[in-house]
Amino acid sequence: MPVSGLPPYDGGNIFARILRGEIPARKVYEDEHALAFHDIAPRAPVHVLVIPKGEYVSVADFSAKADAEVVAGFWRAVGQVARQLGLEGPGYRVLTNMGPDGGQEVPHFHVHIFGGRPLGPMLLEP
Ligand code: AMP
Repeated sequence: MPVSGLPPYDGGNIFARILRGEIPARKVYEDEHALAFHDIAPRAPVHVLVIPKGEYVSVADFSAKADAEVVAGFWRAVGQVARQLGLEGPGYRVLTNMGPDGGQEVPHFHVHIFGGRPLGPMLLEP
């Protein structure tokens, strides 16, 4: 059942297809809970996406439906990826978009990890 107000999960979305191995991705990390790969249109010198392996539309859907072990495993993977990318020292930004106002393009929950340069203040583009 979708969380109230959210669309049902669309198994044809691009990240579902990456998880199924139907289209390639430049993987940087994978474990039982998460897959991380480079964004195809990077907005920073380091721009990696981390996605859970289950079918969740957004952070709201994920936090409402995923088991505690899955939620913990996913966020541990996010931290692991940041460490692996060498971002712990210089710092980085984690971001997730949800729904139309959030500018979410791909309806499979994901977080962006940005780094590799000073990212400036948080930005709300017009
Ligand atoms: P969002 O707007 O938060 O849904 O972000 C979706 C992100 O997915 C964008 O930054 C896209 O550049 C990225 N993206 C779309 N297709 C691919 C792909 N095939 N491989 C890697 N990243 C992708």
